[in-house]
Amino acid sequence: GSQTVDRKVDSVCPFCGVGCQITYNVKDEKIVSVEGRDGPANHNRLCVKGRFGMDYIHNPQRLTKPLIRKPGVPKDESILEGKQDWSDIFREATWEEALNFAGGGLKKLKDQHGLKVLAGFGSAKGSNEEAYLFQKLVRTGFGSNNVDHCTRLCHASSVAALLEGVGSGAVSNQVNDVEHSSLIFLIGSNPTANHPVAATWFKNAAKRGTKIVLCDPRMTEISKHAWRNLQFKPDADVAMLNAMIYTIIEEGLADQEFIKNRASNYEALKENIKGYSPEAMAPICGIPAETLREVAREFATTKSAMILWGMGVSQHVHGTDNARCLIALVSITGQIGKPGSGLHPLRGQNNVQGASDAGLIPMMFPNYQRVDNPEAHAWFEKFWGTPLDKKPGYTVVEIMHKITAPDSDPDKIRGMYVEGENPAMSDPDLNHARHALASLEHLVVQDIFMTETALLADVVLPASAWPEKVGTASNTDRMVQMGKKAINPPGDAKPDLWIIQEIAKRMGLNWNYQGPDDGVAAVYDEMRQAMHGAINGITWERLEKESSVTYPCLSAEDPGRPIVFDDEFATPDGKVKLVPADIIPANERPDTEYPFVLITGRQLEHWHTGSMTRRATILDAIEPMATVSMNGEDMTQLGVTAGDVITVQSRRGEVGIHVRRDDGTPRGVIFIPFAYYEAAANLITNSALDPFGKIPEFKYCAVKLAKG
Ligand code: SF4
Repeated sequence: GSQTVDRKVDSVCPFCGVGCQITYNVKDEKIVSVEGRDGPANHNRLCVKGRFGMDYIHNPQRLTKPLIRKPGVPKDESILEGKQDWSDIFREATWEEALNFAGGGLKKLKDQHGLKVLAGFGSAKGSNEEAYLFQKLVRTGFGSNNVDHCTRLCHASSVAALLEGVGSGAVSNQVNDVEHSSLIFLIGSNPTANHPVAATWFKNAAKRGTKIVLCDPRMTEISKHAWRNLQFKPDADVAMLNAMIYTIIEEGLADQEFIKNRASNYEALKENIKGYSPEAMAPICGIPAETLREVAREFATTKSAMILWGMGVSQHVHGTDNARCLIALVSITGQIGKPGSGLHPLRGQNNVQGASDAGLIPMMFPNYQRVDNPEAHAWFEKFWGTPLDKKPGYTVVEIMHKITAPDSDPDKIRGMYVEGENPAMSDPDLNHARHALASLEHLVVQDIFMTETALLADVVLPASAWPEKVGTASNTDRMVQMGKKAINPPGDAKPDLWIIQEIAKRMGLNWNYQGPDDGVAAVYDEMRQAMHGAINGITWERLEKESSVTYPCLSAEDPGRPIVFDDEFATPDGKVKLVPADIIPANERPDTEYPFVLITGRQLEHWHTGSMTRRATILDAIEPMATVSMNGEDMTQLGVTAGDVITVQSRRGEVGIHVRRDDGTPRGVIFIPFAYYEAAANLITNSALDPFGKIPEFKYCAVKLAKG
């Protein structure tokens, strides 16, 4: 109980982007339990991950010493097959030796081959300060913009559409604002599993009479709270959404006043939509025309409608087009810029919003200043006092391809620094991604566990978990929140910010962030200056007092703006730009040889690649093994029952996996979570990219199934 603890330390949950505030109960230098705090996103609520998932930090598998690959141990992706014991791969080293080897190896490649040969993956699991410093290291030390992180795998397409349409990649309205919505339009999202506390606010709203429209190829727990379930065919987003836009325009329900004053390019949208009547789209998206019209009418005429979406929208080769349709939908109906309305891409990782804001992306400096914008480029050259590359860097999947590029390619990537990401599990088409990582001349991995990526490294640096350091994180609602340090990292593990600076030193940079909170406050303050126009008013001292402040926040007196675009959009002309979208099919459609569609995703208990949650005792006990969800009728046809093992195979790879009956998954479709190394879903997925957001098509590829 809480009476017997040594101390209580306030922080935010390290798992999802909802950003629940928590209190750690610490006894004998261990976090013995976690309680929900009355933060603005959670009001004391927590889901099973936040409440019971924290003991991963005390798992005996935590890395406690720097490790260097033993001489003669091959770097080969086959090492990942069933690999649990790594003592024959690595030897322990001192920090001095490991850092010299890590940083020296990167520097040597740069000196030999030039400024294009290094790349860095930072992490949405790290703090804003870590993200800021990591991208600064790549830009000023490595000498290129080859820096990215898992936003590329999650909402990059949403952000591309939002930057183009409304001028800002962040949400317009906060989750809690659904309190003021008369309609919640939820698409490509399973919030009960992935944003659980947010889901409770949706359900509360439904109880009070708010209509939930759920658009998803799978029926999930939230379905039973929905007013209408649009279980559309996977991949048919644009067909379905265009049919609604068509209805609104054709039936004279568009908000002409809003369009006239606040939108641009409406005529092009109107012209393009002509071929998309609900009657024509019904067979394509699998929703009756009358239902499409009914939902469109309700959306246009209801008092206030908010669209919230997940990766079902973004992880397609047409992810940007999907999001463009959502922007058009709220804009032609005036459902944005007021309470209970607007656009909300539900962020996945606890700090994927903040890491992107801080510049951990290849085409933008902090606060989305384009690296190829001459003014922004000049500003940052002056701010950091060093020449910077003008060319946008490569994105996550592009980097994997640049590693396996021929020697003659001047942009061939030869060395990488990976901080807290696990591309050997999270990237699409893992056989290629793992082969690429294994063939790097020098790979430095910084993490808290021996991840699948770390197994391929030349040197592994033991880092700190979120409760072992101070830092800020920005949630899906644009709330900057502070997490305090509860305990020390185990053994010789070090704070990530310290490690990044030590690598920077070995790349010839002379950084020395000192002062309060181990120099974290000084890094934050520099980042705040770099993000002028966004978080000017959110000082470290203010965060310590208020623990959560919403941006944009431009002065000490500014309370922050939970709703944006009430007066104008962040685009150059202040108007929302409507961008027509046409149907682009998935990169790989089912055929007679590979007749099923694979959708990947997450489940309530396991977080992303599983490196944390599968080492959390309770979460692992609830969901101990990989399962594939499939429709009962498909199971009968295949001749399998729940618990049987089947082989799922695509043109790229295969896994053996236990069957779980789920009649919410439509016939002809299967669903596999990507958290399980022993049945890694991404061995099967397709690395085809959305051309704008460069996001891979995790939500659609063709597979075949076989018994046993
Ligand atoms: Fe943590 Fe998200 Fe669960 Fe809240 S909803 S406790 S932030 S995982």
